[in-house]
Amino acid sequence: MASGVSVTILGTAQDGGIPQAGCSCQRCLDAHRDLKLRKYPVSLGILGVDGTKHIIEITKNLSEQLVIWTPDKNELFIPETVSITHLHLGHIEGIGQLGKPVMGLREVDVYLSPNNKDIFDNRSDIELMEDEGNIRTHSKNFYRPFEPKGGCGFSLQFIPIPHRSELGDNAAIIIKAEEKSILFMPDQDSWGDTLDYHSKDNIRDFLKMFDIDEALIDGTFWSMDELPRRDISKIPHPTIQETIQLLGRKRKGDPEISFLHLNHSNPVNDLGSEQRKVVEGNGWKISEMGDVLKL
Ligand SMILES: [Zn+2]
Ligand SMILES: [Zn+2]
Repeated sequence: MASGVSVTILGTAQDGGIPQAGCSCQRCLDAHRDLKLRKYPVSLGILGVDGTKHIIEITKNLSEQLVIWTPDKNELFIPETVSITHLHLGHIEGIGQLGKPVMGLREVDVYLSPNNKDIFDNRSDIELMEDEGNIRTHSKNFYRPFEPKGGCGFSLQFIPIPHRSELGDNAAIIIKAEEKSILFMPDQDSWGDTLDYHSKDNIRDFLKMFDIDEALIDGTFWSMDELPRRDISKIPHPTIQETIQLLGRKRKGDPEISFLHLNHSNPVNDLGSEQRKVVEGNGWKISEMGDVLKL
């Protein structure tokens, strides 16, 4: 029986969103003309059993994302806690929205790894928001589950995942309620590094170790030849092609796996694309904004 906790996908794009600023690729130009083709940077909204509202990642599109999340469009949800996987731009860009110039919220709890909390607290804009009582940052150790609010009916757990660490460390977050666990892992450098770090040989064993029922994972790029003008090897992420090669077809008893954090260049963004058919043909999914996962 589901616990009453629900997770809504509020964004499926990589940090820049779609359309990406200044990009004249066809996908971005189309998204400028047609609102329905827009995709916001990755973020999840979690509704607790007690009605409390929690988000993971806080993006530049927070305003639109709260509308996606809220069933009653006349009274929009306001986040009470924010949990952050890492400090790269797209994952924290909306934090200022909680402060005086915009929402002016009181004492929103912000959860980060200990190292990231230190770095975050040292920013003068964050310090100001703490002084003014808009937010309270809390450090959460890796592997230790915590409730973002007592009585919310689920726990969060930060798991370390190797990823470009010039701005602090990087986590995946496990959302666990009574019956089910969801893994949110928007960024990683490579499966080799992640599996080595956790001493596992393959993706299935890695997911099994944490008892994951549904995994939302890094699908930034479809393939290595996607960005002709920029060297993709300097922007490390495993490609979806590679992940599917490692996984093969979905087997009985496998967790659901869905790709998100999609770059504007990724053809799986297009509903009818061949690449999306390959993903779905193997039994895996592409996340869509507004998808609701019941825990
Ligand atoms: Zn990212
Ligand atoms: Zn583009």
